[in-house]
Amino acid sequence: MRVIDAEELFNRVGQIKPKNKQQYEDIGMFMNMITNSNTVERRHKGHWIRCDILQEFKCSECRMCFKNKSNPCPNCGTEMESDE
Ligand SMILES: [Zn+2]
Repeated sequence: MRVIDAEELFNRVGQIKPKNKQQYEDIGMFMNMITNSNTVERRHKGHWIRCDILQEFKCSECRMCFKNKSNPCPNCGTEMESDE
């Protein structure tokens, strides 16, 4: 999915000068569609999985192991849930 700036799109559509009543109505419809579009849920957070044998922590998203927990994951950049 490509995330775009809805406000910018709304403003750009709003700047179109309608040439007739039909276009005026179409532009209004587009602006309503933009306003009523669903927003994207914030990207879900990852968590560290303890690897008991290696004494390391594995990122739940990219599966890369690290000696220490950090936030975000140094490999994939996923924001991590706090332990507590
Ligand atoms: Zn990761």
